Amino acid sequence: MKINIYSTLTKQKEELRSINKNKILMYSCGPTVYYFAHIGNLRAYLFMDSLRRVLKYNGYKLKHVMNITDVGHLVSDADEGEDKMMKAARLENKDPFAIADFYTKAFMEDMGKLNIDLPEIIARATEHIECMEDYVKQIIKNGYTYQTENTIYFDTSKLDKYGVLSNKNVKEDDTEARIDVDPNKKHLNDFALWIKAPENHLMKWDSFFGKSYPGWHLECSAMGHKYLGEEFDIHTGGIDHIPIHHENEIAQGKGFCGKNPAHYWMHVEFLQVDGKKMSKSLMNLYTLEDLKQKGYEPLVYKMFNFSSHYRKKINFTFQAMDSAKIALTRLREGYTKHLNGTEDIEEDKIKDYEEKFLTAINDDLNMPVAMSVVWDVIKNPIKSKKLAKLILKFDEVLGFDLKNYDPQEEKIPEDIVKLLEIRKKARENKDWAKSDELRDIIISKGYNIKDTKEGMEIKKI
Ligand code: AMP
Ligand code: ZN
Repeated sequence: MKINIYSTLTKQKEELRSINKNKILMYSCGPTVYYFAHIGNLRAYLFMDSLRRVLKYNGYKLKHVMNITDVGHLVSDADEGEDKMMKAARLENKDPFAIADFYTKAFMEDMGKLNIDLPEIIARATEHIECMEDYVKQIIKNGYTYQTENTIYFDTSKLDKYGVLSNKNVKEDDTEARIDVDPNKKHLNDFALWIKAPENHLMKWDSFFGKSYPGWHLECSAMGHKYLGEEFDIHTGGIDHIPIHHENEIAQGKGFCGKNPAHYWMHVEFLQVDGKKMSKSLMNLYTLEDLKQKGYEPLVYKMFNFSSHYRKKINFTFQAMDSAKIALTRLREGYTKHLNGTEDIEEDKIKDYEEKFLTAINDDLNMPVAMSVVWDVIKNPIKSKKLAKLILKFDEVLGFDLKNYDPQEEKIPEDIVKLLEIRKKARENKDWAKSDELRDIIISKGYNIKDTKEGMEIKKI
């Protein structure tokens, strides 16, 4: 069955036609590892997860690369501000490489908690400095750059058109927009490819440009080329990457070999809080750990995301998270009921569900419609193992790890067990205030307590 995906390049849904038969070459812009990923960032990787799973469900093999940005991403996506890694290193008083290691590990843990199907290749920028050097040398050789005292710039005026994704007008003489910009930069949209490191700059390498470091946009072009070639099928990222980062990746590809690297460019919309993008700078963020503290397991956040299409903004509220939590419980319980069912169901009905599900996911990953099919299966009054098997099949796309779900194994985590012990002692000492305080903490972590004659009864909320 054909898969339609929306490409920002053509601004329409297009039928996916892969370069290789049965194999998709794909690149996703990964995290800048200077802090914990917030759940807005994680929406981008949940989208990536759904896309991977939908492609696999349709029988494709994948070669998918995701970068880890551990150098060169300035506070602004353009060439202004401090390097995010260096800023974090200064604030935490740590070596920037140690910062990168710590937050890369934290990011990978988050991926695991959300049961995200990981790209085949995860590439760290700092391990590809030579690869970036080779790439930039070719762009220089092809005549697409100019050099100022401290920077090698990409000269966007050398392209037929700069801004193919966002259809920007090149405002070369917009003096207002040029405030704070390097006066030696020739055109407003020109961007840094390689930068000379000031004395106190910690992340720098000996290269053709002296002690220096690469510009942020370069890593995706160089690593994409190294692992996927001059042209690949799909490139993904958040919508904030459209106007600068991805325009610059396309510019670099054109400068390197005359080609836009990806045939389809896919972008995921923002997670918002009170109508504003969730972001570190607005300080309106939550991490998976924050959600856990409030009693929501990570997969509830995945369920929350399925309530909206990836190209639509979604507003984060705890009310919506409560609904998602109920939905996840319903899904697990409904699956278990079918698993224990003994009735039979006609093959035609199963085929009908399968077709509807496939139509939804192949229509530009329409997960809300796909979920409505899942609910129809769950609600079917015929309780049949065949329907449980079907739900498991759908879960290859959803990724709720139902095949490993065991209702008997709803284990109480160790931190809760410890809190229960402390509360038990408090009650033995008749310290009711402490007992109540601990009960509230335990509830906030997602467990209900009932005090009975026999002791405490604990149940997941
Ligand atoms: P960064 O680590 O800042 O490079 O961002 C990682 C990814 O998260 C990028 O693809 C961003 O586009 C995406 N992103 C950042 N904020 C949000 C948000 N509020 N909602 C959805 N995606 C986001
Ligand atoms: Zn990128």
